[in-house]
Amino acid sequence: MAAAAAAGAIMSPKDLFSMTEKFGTTERMPVLFVGHGSPMNAIQENEFTEGWRKAGEAIPKPNAILAVSAHWETRDTYVTAMKEPPTIHDFGGFPQELYNVQYPAPGSPELADAVIETVKNTDVRPDEKWGLDHGTWSVVRHMYPKADIPVVQLSLDYYKNPEEHYKLAKELAALRKKGVLIIGSGNIVHNLRMVAWDKMEEIGYGFDWVHEANDKVKKLVLERDHKSLMDYQSLGTAVKLAVPTPEHFLPLLYTVALQEADESASFFNDKPVAGSLSMTSVKIE
Ligand code: ZN
Repeated sequence: MAAAAAAGAIMSPKDLFSMTEKFGTTERMPVLFVGHGSPMNAIQENEFTEGWRKAGEAIPKPNAILAVSAHWETRDTYVTAMKEPPTIHDFGGFPQELYNVQYPAPGSPELADAVIETVKNTDVRPDEKWGLDHGTWSVVRHMYPKADIPVVQLSLDYYKNPEEHYKLAKELAALRKKGVLIIGSGNIVHNLRMVAWDKMEEIGYGFDWVHEANDKVKKLVLERDHKSLMDYQSLGTAVKLAVPTPEHFLPLLYTVALQEADESASFFNDKPVAGSLSMTSVKIE
């Protein structure tokens, strides 16, 4: 297992050259999973946005960000390759103020190339149509309000099973030493059908099963039991309610897959909201 993981991180001299040219070699960057919650967080100041801001401040300034957002699912795997990714307002029924937000961070065709070169077992394709969806910009604009760090997104192939996503994520390991901050963006607990609409604004309010599911997942993260995390559908009723569809949970697998033997996981923004969501975020370093 260890040998296989190490082999996944080895790159050919050519790959290393093209990435080094642009990014240089850095200390190994931490990896984040962020619970993004409501798109309204993008324009609010609350304890979660404060948590994101502080997380950004605690990390060396990245050369670029690679985000795996719950909100970009595709057939096959794509990486945004445009120089100027548009801000996508991929939601409905919110105040105009939210639609007015632009997050004009540059893209990075170089990072897109590096992802394509680094990932060997999946044919990652360059994308010119997507951009930054709210899973990415609603969080990153609080972390890096100047929008001066290039941001690239990697899509979730809805034909891959959790183990395949996890293995793909492991292949991204080498990017961490090129100053690339990898962020999985979703929610550990995300059940929109069970939202307590009258408690939308109440931070800390979660149904019993939300606490149960969130605690169970956190425990597995701390125990590094990634196999059980991949097999989340077998974790009981509470987790089944927490993860009714995979897309908000899978970004967590991208984050934990990158944890190396000498690294630990810690949590921030660790609270439920709106009854049936958790904002719990993870830092691997
Ligand atoms: Zn979402």
